[in-house]
Amino acid sequence: MPNRSFSYSRLQAFKHCPAQYRFRYIDHLTPTGRSIESFLGICQHQVLQWLYGERYFGHEVLFDQVLERYRAIWSDGWDQGIRIARTTWSTDDYYQLGLRSLAGFYRQYAPFEEPVAGTEESLTFDLSDDGQYPMRAIMDRLDHHGGGHWSIHDYKTGRRVLTPVQAQRDLQMKVYYQALLASREQVEQVDVVWHFLRHGLEVRLNRVGWNSKRIIGMLRKRIDQIREAEKRPETLDPHESVLCNWCYYWDHCLAKKGQAHPAREAG
Ligand code: SF4
Repeated sequence: MPNRSFSYSRLQAFKHCPAQYRFRYIDHLTPTGRSIESFLGICQHQVLQWLYGERYFGHEVLFDQVLERYRAIWSDGWDQGIRIARTTWSTDDYYQLGLRSLAGFYRQYAPFEEPVAGTEESLTFDLSDDGQYPMRAIMDRLDHHGGGHWSIHDYKTGRRVLTPVQAQRDLQMKVYYQALLASREQVEQVDVVWHFLRHGLEVRLNRVGWNSKRIIGMLRKRIDQIREAEKRPETLDPHESVLCNWCYYWDHCLAKKGQAHPAREAG
């Protein structure tokens, strides 16, 4: 039975490769591995969640503690299924990248006095009045500056940095924006902030005035398309791209079955 609720990741999975969408969201198959980039991203998110949790309880956070937490999260979370698809990078290169990214964040934002209302804030909402379009959004961080002034924060661990035009068009943030409007009583001003951790960069849009009706219409249209396609799972075809190297459903994919996956075991 497919999960009824939709998320930004689920919408994107369908857009990138319908076959992968099927394996993950309909057939619930277990992938044969996971990428080290995804593992690194999870570690960094967990460190920042811990950091703001400490600050919430009034504890000072020293940089050495951040490093120690990162080391512990990395080693506790490590498993044999982690793979490296980029041939020239070692496991330690990734570890060091995470460390440098967190050091940059620490330098930029210490002593972390942001008015944090929640981290890994999970919001459920519906795009209709009758419960037909359930959605779920998990925000990396939500700050409340008082008087209905909110800021939504998203930590990005990849290479790509959004241009201002791309930021204005970003669907993921629009899903979060919609989730906030639907779940909080007082919303007077919303700022959205992306933190590009490996670059130490912040991209921010203040006072976004996105058209809620248009966002809902766009999301419902995409959900309708997916539901239509789900009725005929055999039409959910593979869409090969460079992203196949980071996909671990090759054993099930008609386009890749029988071929050797280019990623290697991370040591
Ligand atoms: S290997 Fe490529 S084409 Fe096949 S399911 Fe994964 S992303 Fe899609």
